[in-house]
Amino acid sequence: MENLNTKKRPELKHTDFIENLPVACTNETAAVELFEAVRWGDTPCCVHCGSTAVYKMMDAATGGRSKRFLWRCRDCHKQYTVRIGAVYEESRLPLRHWAYAFWRASTSKKGAAALEIMRQCQISYKSALFLMHRIRFAMAKKPGTPPKMTGIVECDELYVGGKPRPGTGPHKRGRGTKKTPVLGIVQRDGDVHRRVVTDVSAYTLKHAIRQMVDPQARVMTDECSSYLGLKDEFASHESVCHSAGEYAVGDVHTNTIESSFALIKRGMIGVHHAVSKKHLHRYLAHYDFLWNGRKMNDGERTYAAIRSAEGKRLTYRPVLKAN
Ligand SMILES: [Zn+2]
Repeated sequence: MENLNTKKRPELKHTDFIENLPVACTNETAAVELFEAVRWGDTPCCVHCGSTAVYKMMDAATGGRSKRFLWRCRDCHKQYTVRIGAVYEESRLPLRHWAYAFWRASTSKKGAAALEIMRQCQISYKSALFLMHRIRFAMAKKPGTPPKMTGIVECDELYVGGKPRPGTGPHKRGRGTKKTPVLGIVQRDGDVHRRVVTDVSAYTLKHAIRQMVDPQARVMTDECSSYLGLKDEFASHESVCHSAGEYAVGDVHTNTIESSFALIKRGMIGVHHAVSKKHLHRYLAHYDFLWNGRKMNDGERTYAAIRSAEGKRLTYRPVLKAN
């Protein structure tokens, strides 16, 4: 299905997209037409057979588009809408809310919380959470294709966790706490990829690094003992000793991965407040998307996010009580 819909698709002019986006957030017809333009460009085609002999169904009473914004194919005679086969297929929420949520999720550097979308779109918290989880799912790279990073690659861990419990003394940070560890790997001047890991043992971290990093890469880390031995598997392994106040020696540093983590830390404190371990990977996918698209402008990034929603469906239903 995906192939049929991605072939022969001319790029939508960026200026058209960004001009139409604010209107699409308030007007349902404009929203549907925006999503159709992102998906099909100037050549709408059938989601069932790929034929371009298709037409919009009209409403006889109003003279406008049919109530459900249906299309019909002259070849296979089936009806469909732009929602088919995308993350918003199962949703009954108007596409104008999706347009707004995609816009916010693609342009707020520290992430966008479901609570804000709830207030701004005047929808229930449950609906807002449903929407945001699916947008984050769309933003995630396709499973099974971990990027092989090369050149200079920095690795570091981040610990994401809840508030200190009363009676447990000062708020502990980092290694040795019960916070959820996240391994982050960034190719300097390239993409970042972060994933939840079960622990920060040498076995776990090295296994993940092997999956994501090319053996030709120069790997840079801090002095954590879990990284010892990487030099045998990669072109080189250089480290900086943070505990000795050493942060950069020549081009050896982990500042890139740390600054990418800084946005997550601020987002977790200021935007999301509490993220359960179960859903953390979705938030990480969102932050990866924002970081990896940092050189795009807001319109390009939003466009890329809406486009990433095609050919993907999240069939599992998130537990809706956690943020
Ligand atoms: Zn067809």
